[in-house]
Amino acid sequence: MAENGIIIAIDGHSGCGKSTTAKAVAKVLGYTYIDTGAMYRAVTLYFMRDNVSVENAKAVAQALAEIRIDFKTDTVAQTRMTYLNGENVENEIRQMEVSQHVSEVSALPVVRQTMVAQQRQMARQGSVVMDGRDIGTYVFPDAALKVFMTARPAVRAQRRMAELTAKGEHVDLAAIRQNLETRDQIDSTRQKNPLKKAEDAIEIDTSDLTFGQQVKQVLSLVQKLTD
Ligand code: C5P
Repeated sequence: MAENGIIIAIDGHSGCGKSTTAKAVAKVLGYTYIDTGAMYRAVTLYFMRDNVSVENAKAVAQALAEIRIDFKTDTVAQTRMTYLNGENVENEIRQMEVSQHVSEVSALPVVRQTMVAQQRQMARQGSVVMDGRDIGTYVFPDAALKVFMTARPAVRAQRRMAELTAKGEHVDLAAIRQNLETRDQIDSTRQKNPLKKAEDAIEIDTSDLTFGQQVKQVLSLVQKLTD
């Protein structure tokens, strides 16, 4: 499959299992996994640390010029880590504080423009699984396979809670659900490249699926492309 060099776009609501599924699918196919949410989270972390206000266009532009985001595979953990200007920020960008600001930051057109250019560059050789909100609608409208994932809010909140708890972060379930729903709302209503299902995307509701079933469903869609 890898020699086809296709692009698989996985979009959807916050916390429905996009990233874990995309990562596993990429591993099976021998593809590169690109987590675009991590990129917007890294930008948000930079803005928070440097007190960059989203209302200050000049400061935003200056910050964007200074931000470099890379993904590197940690050979021990066998997982992709997000680097912001050379620093591993993988854990920090997943924290609740970043989740609370990320949608506001990623709604800025200049932020999107900068990230989309980098995403297109990163995927120029194909053989990529990219997950996000606007991959199938905007970043790669010609992607060979587009998946739109969703799940009931209560299920998404439970899963996110389990993830954060496993990392030692203690957050209230109601606060997590509130954050997921607020992000969906901002992400779906922003002017530039809002979260929406591409017309030719295949929807998967993961509410009642196990992780293994989610991965299997996407892999069978990939298989169908070559049948
Ligand atoms: O995927 P994840 O939940 O980590 O994404 C965090 C946030 O980044 C989203 O809520 C959204 O605001 C933003 N995002 C985006 N476009 C993408 C990926 C993520 O606006 N392609």
